[in-house]
Amino acid sequence: MAVNPDRLKLPQFDARRIRRDFPALAQKIHGHQLVYLDNAATTQKPNPVIDALTDYYRSYNANVHRGVHTLSELATERYEAARHNLAQFIGASQPEEIIFLRGATEAINLVAASWGLANIGAGDEILLTELEHHSNIVPWQLLAERVGARVVVAPIDQQGNVAPETFSRALSERTRLVGIAQVSNALGTVNPITEMIRSAHAAGARVLIDGAQAVGHMPVDVRELDCDFYALSGHKMYAPMGIGALYAKKDLLERMPPWQGGGDMIRAVNFTRSLYADPPQRFEAGTPNVAGAIGLAAAIAYLKTLGMEAVATHEKILLDYALERLVMVPGLRLIGTPRKRAGVISFWVEGLHPHDLGTLLDHAGVAIRTGHHCAMPVMDHFQVPATARASFGVYNTQEDVHALIAALNQAREVFGG
Ligand code: PMP
Repeated sequence: MAVNPDRLKLPQFDARRIRRDFPALAQKIHGHQLVYLDNAATTQKPNPVIDALTDYYRSYNANVHRGVHTLSELATERYEAARHNLAQFIGASQPEEIIFLRGATEAINLVAASWGLANIGAGDEILLTELEHHSNIVPWQLLAERVGARVVVAPIDQQGNVAPETFSRALSERTRLVGIAQVSNALGTVNPITEMIRSAHAAGARVLIDGAQAVGHMPVDVRELDCDFYALSGHKMYAPMGIGALYAKKDLLERMPPWQGGGDMIRAVNFTRSLYADPPQRFEAGTPNVAGAIGLAAAIAYLKTLGMEAVATHEKILLDYALERLVMVPGLRLIGTPRKRAGVISFWVEGLHPHDLGTLLDHAGVAIRTGHHCAMPVMDHFQVPATARASFGVYNTQEDVHALIAALNQAREVFGG
């Protein structure tokens, strides 16, 4: 049998060593070594991220931007350095194109409330794909209701792909904004966003990429993609919860109105009118999540030591390995068989509701997610109420796949149909 050369790369990545950087993975659950396969919901945090948080709170906790004392200057310097690091990590041309927010959800809501309200009107269209997460659907529905616009959907096929031709056909001269997930959290589909962005631009639309499931798993270069907006969540890329960001092209940001008012986003305030600060401050009203941004910078530094190409290769090899073995589990049906997949495998086991399956797996120490994954239109498409979802990260190993398969077989033998 010919040896797949890709297979040979897996041990060199040394996920077993990486695993030791994540203290939460060292524990036992119900007497079994934890096998964490819920990375699409949130990833575990490595020691450097935890240390960056405690270091901030232990030694230089202070509010940013307005202070002249040493701690405030230090906190400001690190917070702005984090902006610089993230800009560089995703290929933005300058740090001012990065707005720190709570996560991808808040980033998409910002675009809808600020750019959307100013640029989308009655009769205009917002084009989404059928595989979007609710956070890239509901903000657009809220906007559409408010201004009389229409949400149009590019359907997925039976494999869970958005065909480029179907997508192009859904574009019209009324399309103002296209919202696309780079990677589907429910199916793992990697959308051909380069082509999609190109055709959306050719139709005169702006493009928002929901990168929540992409940026911790593969190299991302927003300038190369030429997307107008890119939303991401830190907690899905080994950073703390409550920090994320919006990337937007500078010329767009400069013309966008504020979406929230408060301290730190103004130049001057009086009771007649206020003058707003330039981006990014214009969009960061109030005290930001300073510790979160510093933790995000630590997560980026950690990912850079691994190398994003290597991360993507490791996860691809592991995913292929898991897929090969999962299809051998009797009664297991894959939900979605996309052409290109990253990070995520959704499935259904005959005779076992996903929620029961999730509980049984937990008793074997294997953490997966079950439910609609905030992608109800995808569940409707495949006519299932829920799926079981295993999702992978840098610390997952072939042994984790073996544990998943063993737990599935045991659950099926004991409780399955
Ligand atoms: N988009 C996708 C594709 C996601 O998977 C998620 C999180 N499940 C989100 C957006 C929302 O991210 P957050 O809850 O961190 O804002």
